[in-house]
Amino acid sequence: MRASVPDILPRVPLAPRTTWRIGGPAEHFAVPRSLEEVFALFELAASRGWPLFFLGRGSNILVDDAGLPGLTLQVGGLTEFSRQGDRLRAGAGVALPRLARRLADMGVAGFEFLEGIPGTVGAGVRLNAGAWGREIAGLLSRVWVATPAGRLLEFTPAELEPGYRSTRLLAFPHWLVVGAEFRLFGEEDPVSIRARMAELAARRRTVQPASPRSCGSVFKNPPQGPAAGRLIDEAGLKGRRLGDAVVSRKHANFILNAGRATAAQVKALIALIQEEVWRRFGVALEREVVFLPEDLSGHH
Ligand SMILES: Cc1cc2nc3c(=O)[nH]c(=O)nc-3n(C[C@H](O)[C@H](O)[C@H](O)COP(=O)(O)OP(=O)(O)OC[C@H]3O[C@@H](n4cnc5c(N)ncnc54)[C@H](O)[C@@H]3O)c2cc1C
Repeated sequence: MRASVPDILPRVPLAPRTTWRIGGPAEHFAVPRSLEEVFALFELAASRGWPLFFLGRGSNILVDDAGLPGLTLQVGGLTEFSRQGDRLRAGAGVALPRLARRLADMGVAGFEFLEGIPGTVGAGVRLNAGAWGREIAGLLSRVWVATPAGRLLEFTPAELEPGYRSTRLLAFPHWLVVGAEFRLFGEEDPVSIRARMAELAARRRTVQPASPRSCGSVFKNPPQGPAAGRLIDEAGLKGRRLGDAVVSRKHANFILNAGRATAAQVKALIALIQEEVWRRFGVALEREVVFLPEDLSGHH
């Protein structure tokens, strides 16, 4: 028997589902609650000829002002969270800060750095999210990916070839990370784990803007250094504004939505930064943030 297809909603605004609060609506929008529902939605999208987009917590995307055609699948319904001994399985929709806090309460150390990354397990695995010199790939034992052809693939972290803000999954934008298994090590008193998390949060507050309306770092740090934020700062771009899109004065690799910024304004500001940094320092800044729908091809 076919799995039932979850509700598909028409013209759902995406701006409130992104941290930047920018972008138009999804033509169609659904929240699958199981792997069966994911596959049923894949099938439906294929039969209707709808392009497919994936959304986590929208903390690393810029949605176009015209919105997204086809079907946007939000992974927030994939919420498995189950521990067996030294392994933990988490669904793609589990928020990274929640994962970190729940493990801290269980007395499992090593996940503290995830608390300040406001995304999901699925998107975090895809991009190998990280902070303070730690990366999510270092915690993984297995990853499950659903493909539009109806297959469920399993990968070890080594097979994903993780690097700085990258895995091989970036080359397959139509593959949906549905869940991951983490290795739990480093038992410790929850109180001291929580104390370390508070310390990291305090460090973040000193270097990052207070406004939640950003996507975190817009650009990757160039491999040969210096950091993207420093280059943008030295190019004199702190505070540069196009409409309501503003380069943060506190951390130049952040672009803030200071009011009613549009995707067009953010894109123009990003292009201006790339041009200035190239002209001044000969460095081509590579975007970390994903443009939807443009980056659907996986090249960004
Ligand atoms: C204030 C702030 C601080 C941040 N700090 C950090 C940091 O320290 N380190 C860091 O690495 N990042 C940081 N980020 C960026 C962001 O939180 C991460 O990249 C996070 O992993 C994105 O998760 P998300 O669920 O919000 O993804 P989304 O923005 O919803 O999606 C990002 C991309 O992943 C795709 N995607 C989403 N879910 C899946 C899935 N299940 N399978 C396949 N593809 C999927 C989307 O289609 C899109 O292309 C920060 C962001 C903010 C706003």
